[in-house]
Amino acid sequence: MTNLASVNERIQLIVKGASAGSTCSPSLADGPWGFDTTPGYGPGASNEDHIPSDAPRQGQLPQEYREASDAELHERIRAAKATLGDRVVILGHFYQRDEIVQHADYLGDSFQLANAAKAHPEAEAIVFCGVHFMAETADILSGEDQKVILPNLAAGCSMADMADADSVEECWRQLTELYGTEPDEHGRVPVIPVTYMNSSAALKAFCGRNGGIVCTSSNAETVLRWAFERGQRVLFFPDQHLGRNTAKAMGVPVEQMPLWWGRKPLGGNTADALHDAKVILWNGFCSVHKRFTVGQIEKARAEFPGVRVIVHPESPMEVVDASDEYGSTDYIRKAVEAATEPSTFAIGTEINMVQRLAAQHPKHNIFCLDPVVCPCSTMYRIHPGYLAWVLERLVAGEVVNQITVDESVATNARVALERMLAAKPL
Ligand code: SF4
Repeated sequence: MTNLASVNERIQLIVKGASAGSTCSPSLADGPWGFDTTPGYGPGASNEDHIPSDAPRQGQLPQEYREASDAELHERIRAAKATLGDRVVILGHFYQRDEIVQHADYLGDSFQLANAAKAHPEAEAIVFCGVHFMAETADILSGEDQKVILPNLAAGCSMADMADADSVEECWRQLTELYGTEPDEHGRVPVIPVTYMNSSAALKAFCGRNGGIVCTSSNAETVLRWAFERGQRVLFFPDQHLGRNTAKAMGVPVEQMPLWWGRKPLGGNTADALHDAKVILWNGFCSVHKRFTVGQIEKARAEFPGVRVIVHPESPMEVVDASDEYGSTDYIRKAVEAATEPSTFAIGTEINMVQRLAAQHPKHNIFCLDPVVCPCSTMYRIHPGYLAWVLERLVAGEVVNQITVDESVATNARVALERMLAAKPL
């Protein structure tokens, strides 16, 4: 455990007025972030969140878990985990709260965790303390008999939900009508779909069916090169920022990256603009990373001359341009670990991860660019009460909150994931 107050403790202190500071959303301190009082779906901090009609709904947690003290919940989690032994693997995402991470067997990004699940074929159950699309990916990549469990079904990802399968299919229909399907003289088809890992299994399957591929924030450039070898242009979803930042670094002019607005004809673009496009960007974003600004970077530089500013590529383009470096969560973690001399880092990614890095590397001065406490509010919905509940049900022989991807979807999603694994840097 860290010697800094956890994000959860900081939020409680702010709300009780015992600490200066603010949160990005006052509702973070309300009951729903502890427990869902009514069956519901948990949107993130953004008002623009789209709630998919087929989103899973979380039922109310049994009273004994809602009323248990923190200490009792942790004890019950430890006891259930010890009883289950190798039968269960608990995965914790970098953005997960410390109260959960302390019980995780693995800590990582979504793809590292899916691979960790794959490395444990002996585990009957994989408890994924992340968000819905991550649990889906783990189900796609894990063994047939393994059960993937998401402790709170309300833990969705607001970015993933911004691109639903129907809207992307409609976009594809319009693009196919506009471009046709004939390859050019180099054998490149008119457009290749590329989905970020942060998307539903249905969209990964869409890419698998239509000659497309999945990318992560670590391999987005390699994947875009793969796509440009096979296509004249790319349809990139759901995160406009990762698409734009990566393509721009590869030399694609910003003018050739139109934004696609889901409900407008031709996504709100002219046919000429789409013919000239190299990357068509879906209008999705991460509510956490879009909060970072150039002003925050300027302030950090003024206060800490020599500060190293590292941001995640889900941040807006002007923020990435103003930073010293940018990269995935894994890149950020390694950059801090590799710094031998005491340094100051201003980091543009989720607060739980930044707090943890600060606690693990006390010789450095590490802080989050965003001065308010803004966790990934969907992941934050996994309170220890849910973890205790799913583990104790497993001990009792019952699987609750299982995430399953239909095999017809999983087969095509696997095709897109395997293309990603086979794509090699040039
Ligand atoms: S940080 Fe943003 S993209 Fe990542 S899971 Fe949370 S809402 Fe989704």
